[in-house]
Amino acid sequence: MFDAHKQDAGKASFETFERIESEVRSYARSFPAVFTSAKGSRIFDQSGRSYVDFLSGCSTLNYGHNHPKMKQALVDYLMQDGVAHTMDMYSVAKAQFLEAFDKHILRPRGMDYRLQFPGPTGANAVEAAIKLARKVTGRTNVIAFTNGFHGCTLGALSLTGNGHHRGGAGVELTGVTRMPYDKYFGDGVDTAEQIEKMLEDASGGVDAPAAIILETIQGEGGLNAASAKWLQKIEKIARDNGALLIVDDIQAGCGRSGSFFSFEEMGIKPDIVTMAKSLSGMGLPMALVLLKPELDEWKPGEHNGTFRGNCHAFITARVAIEEFWANDDFEDELKLKAKKIRTRLESFVKTFPDHINRVKGRGVMLGIEVANPEMTSEIVKASFERGLIIETAGPDDEVVKLLTPLNIADEDLEAGLNILGDALQAVYTDASLQAAE
Ligand SMILES: *Cc1c(COP(=O)(O)O)cnc(C)c1O
Repeated sequence: MFDAHKQDAGKASFETFERIESEVRSYARSFPAVFTSAKGSRIFDQSGRSYVDFLSGCSTLNYGHNHPKMKQALVDYLMQDGVAHTMDMYSVAKAQFLEAFDKHILRPRGMDYRLQFPGPTGANAVEAAIKLARKVTGRTNVIAFTNGFHGCTLGALSLTGNGHHRGGAGVELTGVTRMPYDKYFGDGVDTAEQIEKMLEDASGGVDAPAAIILETIQGEGGLNAASAKWLQKIEKIARDNGALLIVDDIQAGCGRSGSFFSFEEMGIKPDIVTMAKSLSGMGLPMALVLLKPELDEWKPGEHNGTFRGNCHAFITARVAIEEFWANDDFEDELKLKAKKIRTRLESFVKTFPDHINRVKGRGVMLGIEVANPEMTSEIVKASFERGLIIETAGPDDEVVKLLTPLNIADEDLEAGLNILGDALQAVYTDASLQAAE
């Protein structure tokens, strides 16, 4: 465990980062502390202060920080001089991951996919997915959705809706048709019907798509959760139009939605699935593309990358699967956790009806949408001051987003929710006093 006294001599100052590191840093601005260690749902800064972590690396740490079994397996592997990097050569670490993924994830769900390891980031997986879809179909256009987030490399960025991120492209972002996500125009408008009509119309102006790519719950886009009905209709539209359905499960996958894949309970069967973030289980970089076997038209090395064999990540990813997904216990636990969090968030809506509109999201991917988006930065700040790390999402940062570790201990969950409640109280009580003045 972290010992503040041992660290004193080497204390880092903000000045170091501000002087040497690029202005591009972002989370550091919301959470001004220098972190040293972390365990489970808690992260510690160099002064020994403990924070409950409701950010979890944007859903990269679904099993918490430094899970003891993953850590032990990695330490053992290192001490045996286990090979760290192999390009895409065969390793025992990779074989064990492949077997575990096949046995505990794919086969019990009746899924038949080939596994492609792209570079280690989510964007790498998305790039590989759309390249493959274009290659297999011989088409260029990809349909992506309003408020979708798929990464910041140019191909992935072309799919991403966020104007702030797109503004950094520096070139034209092409080859994508933007369509409205489920309920983008409110409950009364069936956007799948609109898309269907536009694609059916020979003069609808939409080029035949290679793929339709979507998140079933939009993580960065504000926790918009698509309905099963809408998703099924989009899947049918893809099939009717000869397009592949790609589900980007980088944030909503690995249990965040309440099941391993976010689409499991939605009644759809994507052709391609992208995964990253929590896949390695312990925050090590690792990404994966699942593709239907008949789509595997890659030529050897055609899509390449130096870091496609992160053996350390294979080790921890295998342990994560064996530890959490070998039976249904964890999924049952997630249902209870989701209910607990949702109930508490509903109570915040009731307590602050003028300030908080509603609860958004699905599974253990939940948040609150506030009436005045300018207040969310205040909520984040007030939470941080009280020992909670929590972030915002949505086009105007209007959603306070909870990405708790999925295995968070009840007392940490309570502590974090209590801090959030206190922060809301502080922010909105002050705000209403100001408004009354
Ligand atoms: C985070 C994220 C990405 C991009 O992953 P990186 O590792 O940041 O490149 C893509 N899609 C979704 C849904 C994400 O949440």
